[in-house]
Amino acid sequence: MRMRSICNDQVLAYIAGELTGTDLERAAWHVTRCAKCSATAQRFRAVGAILRSDDSFLPPSCLIVRVRDMFSCWQQIQPAADLS
Ligand SMILES: [Zn+2]
Repeated sequence: MRMRSICNDQVLAYIAGELTGTDLERAAWHVTRCAKCSATAQRFRAVGAILRSDDSFLPPSCLIVRVRDMFSCWQQIQPAADLS
């Protein structure tokens, strides 16, 4: 397979698990063979690990309550989907 470059968005999508099929195969093949993209992927993984472990980004509890109230009202307004 010929080495084609991929952009950072594709590397990020690969790391985020957003790619499927040929796109996934192409990105995986490239990231494992390209030193630059492999380093970029490692940086994205490190940032993701920090974001997952850092709860300082959680919104204030009053905001969570307001959003839940908003969506509970919205669900009461929306008709139930007919799945039959
Ligand atoms: Zn590359």
